[in-house]
Amino acid sequence: MRKPFIAGNWKMHKTIPEAVELVTELRPLVADITNVQIAVCPPYVALPAVHDVLLGSNIAVGAQNMFWEEEGAYTGEISPRMLKDLVTHVIIGHSERRKYFGETDETVNRKVHAALAHGLLPIICVGEVLEEREAGKTEEVVRRQVMGAYKDVPADKARVTTIAYEPVWAIGTGKAATPEDANHVIGHVIRATLAELYDEEVAQRIRVQYGGSVKPANIAGFMAQPEVDGALVGGASLKAETFAEIIRIASHVRK
Ligand code: PEP
Repeated sequence: MRKPFIAGNWKMHKTIPEAVELVTELRPLVADITNVQIAVCPPYVALPAVHDVLLGSNIAVGAQNMFWEEEGAYTGEISPRMLKDLVTHVIIGHSERRKYFGETDETVNRKVHAALAHGLLPIICVGEVLEEREAGKTEEVVRRQVMGAYKDVPADKARVTTIAYEPVWAIGTGKAATPEDANHVIGHVIRATLAELYDEEVAQRIRVQYGGSVKPANIAGFMAQPEVDGALVGGASLKAETFAEIIRIASHVRK
């Protein structure tokens, strides 16, 4: 059985004091939840403060991105070695990174290797844009992204990764995919590709979240789907109460 995993991607939101306030409020609200894994992914500068507030809690901390080199002349970048003391998880290849910062399947793959080499757990984002969906290319695009992300990643490392299936047209738009559709892409495209790359056991082991306009009103539908192992939540993770409500509903659906 895969334990559901709900992660909050704060994107470029929250100053350090605001970040501290959010996690200070969130921590007691979800302290009793044991059947859902929880993580928050604040901006880099808030990581040390958030890490300190959440020490000893059931909420993991993740970064939203990282570079693949350990150190060097890469102005503005943050390496896995620098993150290791602050986070357990790292989001890799978010569609906003692909769209605004030129990330490709190849750079995503380099980052996945680097994260795993440093013991960080990647949350690998895949998903089609609207034009691709409308052209009937969802399966082809998602398959290519999964193949690219896992290139030369051995099975024992692949097992600890998480995938977030985030149809790009559903991110921040209020227009979520249907739970059935998310379930179909995750089961018939993502797990099928993983089974092809590795084997059925590995494909069944890797957790796959849904992401795209998840909120308290629709999380139950996603969690009721057998292939959906939780959610990557953007906007709705920016308020402690709302994020806690999503986690609580997910916890009840899977009881
Ligand atoms: C995201 O940032 O990964 C995301 C899914 O955003 P939202 O929940 O706001 O659509």
